[in-house]
Amino acid sequence: MTRKRILTGDRPTGPLHLGHYVGSLQNRVRLQDEYETYILIADVQALTDNFEHPEKLEANIFEVALDYLAVGLDPEKVQFVIQSMVPELTELTIYFMNLVTVATLERNPTLKEEIKQKNFTKGLPVGFYTYPISQASDITIFKAHLVPVGEDQLPMIEQSREIVRRFNRLYDRVLVEPKALVGEVARLPGTDGGAKMSKSLGNCIYLGDPPETVRKRVMSMYTDPTRLRPTDPGHVEGNPVFTYLDVFNPDKAEVEELKDRYRKGRVGDVEVKERLFRVLDVFLAPIRERRNEFASKPDRVKEILVEGTRKGRAVAQDTMAEVRTAMKISYKL
Ligand code: ATP
Ligand code: MG
Repeated sequence: MTRKRILTGDRPTGPLHLGHYVGSLQNRVRLQDEYETYILIADVQALTDNFEHPEKLEANIFEVALDYLAVGLDPEKVQFVIQSMVPELTELTIYFMNLVTVATLERNPTLKEEIKQKNFTKGLPVGFYTYPISQASDITIFKAHLVPVGEDQLPMIEQSREIVRRFNRLYDRVLVEPKALVGEVARLPGTDGGAKMSKSLGNCIYLGDPPETVRKRVMSMYTDPTRLRPTDPGHVEGNPVFTYLDVFNPDKAEVEELKDRYRKGRVGDVEVKERLFRVLDVFLAPIRERRNEFASKPDRVKEILVEGTRKGRAVAQDTMAEVRTAMKISYKL
């Protein structure tokens, strides 16, 4: 029996961070033996809000690939696919556009939030507005059963499911309805205390950050703004330093003991942050080491990308042939 498929991806707008790890990468690594996995480096989607700086993409495609390899995604099992090199995706997006109403896009909560956040000064580009449709093509062209993502992506998966149902009802049962798989942490907050660590918000700890950078980022983290002295009772809820400790410190008793002292005003921010830095350093050290190793072999990384994209495109071409037949546009001329 053929294995079920996973499709997920990342925008090459920068290297990957802790949020990517707990939101999605961890599940991808865990499931890579069980599922036939395709991971899309979504440069076309990244262009929708970076079209004025397309030169950023190429270097970041490489950075993202390094992060994949660094966290233990095995290129023997997992295909890394560059989105713009699979033009079939663009074709499917155009067909899908007929199946989605403007009103549906208008209701997409993540899209709404991002539009507000990005504050497009020259007006909202149609390309950005319609990215949920293009993302539905990404997922469905691979006939993915499972999509490991962070919580912010749930509306995109729902949109994809709706499109699949419509397509299959209208034309033929060709496409697979995908399910989302949210990570251990659905949405990791930023170092600034903001709701989401995000490349475009500059509130990240990157998987490849050297120890001095991690230390600097941890030491300048947002904590409890109501606490002026280490002897003031502090709040651990909504305090990202404790959120990160909860996630990354395997010694739960130690975290509870720190929380207890923090609440009672018996430990300073600096000590808690020192502890967090050490915890993160233990977590990141092996990732950093593997990352540096692959960074010194750029030709090998390129080969992995070329091979992954070739295999991914072959799958996309097969699906498109079925899609055209189902839509009765597979003309025998
Ligand atoms: P950008 O700011 O360019 O949108 P991003 O940091 O949001 O970048 P994406 O490439 O958009 O990263 O997201 C890739 C995947 O990582 C998605 O599945 C997303 O849900 C997940 N992800 C990103 N940030 C977080 C986070 N802070 N917590 C959990 N999951 C996250
Ligand atoms: Mg994003």
